[in-house]
Amino acid sequence: MPTIQTVKARQILDSRGTPTVEVDCTLSDGSFGRAAVPSGASTGSYEALELRDGDRKVYGGKSVYKAVTNVNAVIAEAVQGMDVSDHRKLDEKLIVLDGTPNKSKLGANAILGVSMAVCRARALAEKKSLWQSLADQYGVKIGTKVMLPVPMMNVINGGKHADSGLSFQECMIIPVGLPSFAEALRAGDEVFIALKKLLSEGGYSTAVGDEGGFAPHLKDSAEAFSFLLKAIDAAGYIGKVKLGIDAAASEFFSDGLYHIDGKSLNSEALVSYYENLVAGYPLVSIEDSHSEDDWDGFEAMAGALGNKTQLVGDDLFVTNVTRIKEGIEKKAANAVLIKLNQIGTVSETVDAIQTAQKNGWNAVVSHRSGETEDTFIAHLAVGLQSGQIKTGSLSRTDRVCKYNELLRIEEELGERAAYVSPF
Ligand code: PGA
Ligand code: ZN
Repeated sequence: MPTIQTVKARQILDSRGTPTVEVDCTLSDGSFGRAAVPSGASTGSYEALELRDGDRKVYGGKSVYKAVTNVNAVIAEAVQGMDVSDHRKLDEKLIVLDGTPNKSKLGANAILGVSMAVCRARALAEKKSLWQSLADQYGVKIGTKVMLPVPMMNVINGGKHADSGLSFQECMIIPVGLPSFAEALRAGDEVFIALKKLLSEGGYSTAVGDEGGFAPHLKDSAEAFSFLLKAIDAAGYIGKVKLGIDAAASEFFSDGLYHIDGKSLNSEALVSYYENLVAGYPLVSIEDSHSEDDWDGFEAMAGALGNKTQLVGDDLFVTNVTRIKEGIEKKAANAVLIKLNQIGTVSETVDAIQTAQKNGWNAVVSHRSGETEDTFIAHLAVGLQSGQIKTGSLSRTDRVCKYNELLRIEEELGERAAYVSPF
């Protein structure tokens, strides 16, 4: 197996025009890997640190030149000459080099860029697709069939991702009753097109939010769901396309109350609110129903809905094995959202996925609201056989490029490809 010859970072722009880190890695056999780091807006407080320069005169304080320098002046020298056969060793080295619990010295953005770029270079050296290389690297047992992930497509954006007035951050469509990923993508896209027509006919804006979904001014979630159901009907997919939400409730929680759809609810009343939604709509997945520190709320939610609805923790778990284990112990959810940059290395991200899987929980590999053209997460979802991916709407290249990569992977797999609904 070749060794690392060079690692080089640069600052590029993400989908919001915010600077982010891109890393190139070249191995001794000439294999080359490039990766770009995503960035969130509704970030959980327990996430690893995203290092930004903070000089308000430069990119409004958001430049990442320090993180770039940390790669080029510190990490590059430390990893040069390392054998890339064991990715856990590389990530361990990066973690030790940083030496802080939340990667605040070098920056999780600097560390993750290197971790991802090396994965890409190794896959090339192995002459494997990235998903296959990741599967082999982390001991994923893949049988004759390879699962493509079911997408959760965020077609109505609210919360911190749009100024639509909607409390929920994401209203998603989930194509489940379809025979392949390609057909699922088609269903999602046809619903998206139907939704645009319905919104436009109703006099609503069809401008899109950060994740490529529409951001119309709707009065509450019931109105959003009603539009989604009409669009599913118009496109001919009733029963085959279900609904999901990311409430991102930390963002509408203040002074001990949840301020949602014009009401102020306590944690318990919020559970009843969700129960009504589940009773009235084909809502199969709810992410971050409560605020990131409201463990009691999550536990009550799991007690009330956990046997029939997927309950996903994002800000609650921040892709952190310690927090996920606590959640499993407390029965606070039944699924984990997986974001590479919440934790900062590929190996720790894989640990989070495998901790969920070993405990019978679902793992949903996810993008961030600030994305790039990098398609790493499409390969991560297939390689780790996560079964689900959340990567935005059916518009904007930063979102659609992940779907397009999954189409290519499905084509590469041919008869081995499987599309299985978790719902
Ligand atoms: P973020 O949003 O990337 O802004 O955190 C995505 C999510 O909350 O799932
Ligand atoms: Zn979320």
